[in-house]
Amino acid sequence: MVKYKIIFNREECIGALACSAINPDIWLLAEDGKVDLKGAKKREDGRWELTVEDDNLQFNKDAADACPVDVIKIEDIEQ
Ligand code: SF4
Repeated sequence: MVKYKIIFNREECIGALACSAINPDIWLLAEDGKVDLKGAKKREDGRWELTVEDDNLQFNKDAADACPVDVIKIEDIEQ
């Protein structure tokens, strides 16, 4: 298993839904047409952050890469 963070700049999200098409388990469609990152906490800078420990790093990187406005970042955490 690897530990990593998913960081989401929700303000800049345009609701293209590419992320949720790839991983609907964590990218949930919200009422305003954008998505919510399931289980994420809002940081002081306004971005949403979720720490994950699983084997889905590449899968979540694919979802991040699919975002047309590049508002999803994946950060590896040193073990
Ligand atoms: S792919 Fe990007 S712009 Fe589209 S809903 Fe997901 S985070 Fe928002």
